[in-house]
Amino acid sequence: MTIDLVIRGASILDGSGGPAFEGDVEVDAGLIRAVGTASSAGREEVDARGLTLAPGFVDVHAHDDGAFIRHPDMAFKLAQGVTTCVCGNCGFSAIPASPGLDRATAGGGILAGAEGDFTDLEGYFDAVLARAPAINEMMLVGHNTVRATIMGLEPRAPTRVELDRMRSHVREAMEQGACGFSTGLIYRPGRWSQTDEVIELAREAAPFGGLYATHMRNEADHLLDAVEETLAIGREAGVHAHISHHKASGRRNWGKVKDSLARVDAARAAGQPVTLDVYPYTAGSGRMIEYFDLAAIDADLAEAMRIASCPAFPDFEGRMVRDIAAGRGTSAAEIVRLILTAPRGEATLCIQFTIDEADVETNLRHPAMMVGSDGIPELSGKPHPRLFGTFPRVLGEYVRRRGVVSLPEAVRRMTSAPAETFGLLGRGRIEAGAHADLVLFDPGSVADLATYDEPKRPPAGIALVVVNGRVACRDAVPTGERAGQMLRYRREAYVGA
Ligand SMILES: [Zn+2]
Repeated sequence: MTIDLVIRGASILDGSGGPAFEGDVEVDAGLIRAVGTASSAGREEVDARGLTLAPGFVDVHAHDDGAFIRHPDMAFKLAQGVTTCVCGNCGFSAIPASPGLDRATAGGGILAGAEGDFTDLEGYFDAVLARAPAINEMMLVGHNTVRATIMGLEPRAPTRVELDRMRSHVREAMEQGACGFSTGLIYRPGRWSQTDEVIELAREAAPFGGLYATHMRNEADHLLDAVEETLAIGREAGVHAHISHHKASGRRNWGKVKDSLARVDAARAAGQPVTLDVYPYTAGSGRMIEYFDLAAIDADLAEAMRIASCPAFPDFEGRMVRDIAAGRGTSAAEIVRLILTAPRGEATLCIQFTIDEADVETNLRHPAMMVGSDGIPELSGKPHPRLFGTFPRVLGEYVRRRGVVSLPEAVRRMTSAPAETFGLLGRGRIEAGAHADLVLFDPGSVADLATYDEPKRPPAGIALVVVNGRVACRDAVPTGERAGQMLRYRREAYVGA
């Protein structure tokens, strides 16, 4: 019998964390038919000897809500072996969307063109499917977007009526298949919310078994308070708590991730479901306006910052703020002021070198740590290389070169662990009956090639990526197969109305 695809002689890491074993994998009609010794011929046959076959990687921290519409080939993720992105993170999601509302504000300016005439998750999924995306997407519903939809950017607590309207938006998204509720409590307007508001909204995810994913209120001097708040929200709302891009920002806080992980461990030991994710870099990235108070510009932060994209001053792109300042005989803080007070200055994206390399390793050693790129899919200028390199970087730098985590364990944390946590039904494992999302790579050469100066380089060593049974990418070049599906929490894939 002839089936769609047979991958022969691979070293298989099935996503469980167990050791690799040699075998063939049969794929037909979007599913893995058998694992072991192939008894069928494939219309397409792949000789995988010497290569490792794993389930497709899950990027649990993506901001690709708009990219799925604007760049449906999703090449920057696909080439890394990513077959599913969880979007709607940091409290910013494409939905709910209101025709009268400025989408850039509701999306925090990082969703890169989440445009369309949709208003809810069903409509968003249909808009994405109409573009034939190359990979799968799952969605969180974001607090900042929900709040901006109801209250605009009002720096105050919601009234009871407003809170009820916010709750109904969260509930509706959960009913339509979102996997949880996210916050970005460092950003506007989330930063104006009290803990009680977040608990009430997160509670709407509980009946659906959804999770609470958070960019915490503080990742620097008050990191530990923020962890306590996160744990309290998870407990009070009765939901799984997931800490996004765990870090201790700023030199004086380096090393604190150990204390914060100790609190997470204590909560887990007491039976509370808590997980985390991290990106394998020592720089963060975001909208510059969110990091500064113009009345008191943080000079240290300005010194540690580089410009990713800047419509107001395109010639600043790819340069450290301190170098721009030196060239003009002024201070880094004054350059920040110049950018942020210029027309369109608010759209500036920056990259800030504020994380300790040892903390990245500490994070990656933790068994509850997953991998999330946090990439902002703004392809103009010089974006943070994490958008193009995160997953190969974990495998090349932290597994092979430094031995921080074993290969089977790293694969588990990038596949079955996120699939179980975020509710991707039938994904994240290589086993008969599972959806055929697969990545074939060379563990001896896999590497990220994206750098801060050349951030858009695709990775090396990712030989083949299969999405829903279709070969979507070969040696970092997309094949044109666009078989991505919209995934609903713990339900079958959504294939459109
Ligand atoms: Zn964030």
